[in-house]
Amino acid sequence: MTAQHRVWIDQDLCTGDGICVQEARDVFEFDIDGLAYVKNADGELLTATAAQTDVPAGALVEVVEAARLRGVDEEDLGVEIGF
Ligand code: SF4
Repeated sequence: MTAQHRVWIDQDLCTGDGICVQEARDVFEFDIDGLAYVKNADGELLTATAAQTDVPAGALVEVVEAARLRGVDEEDLGVEIGF
């Protein structure tokens, strides 16, 4: 059994630089306010502040890479992925 990972964005901290959208388009997308939000499994943008979504298994590497590029400490990610 594979552990399910969830992800969310704190829009108060989002600078709109687009790294998450660039790295994991199936999970993150900009809204018209220029901030990033997560999408659900149907690709629907979840525009509630800090809405959470499950990370599709096929997108986990991209989500982790986006977090790394934004400077998130690997220990804070809660996952280990070999590249
Ligand atoms: S990586 Fe995404 S959520 Fe983080 S600051 Fe950039 S656009 Fe915002």
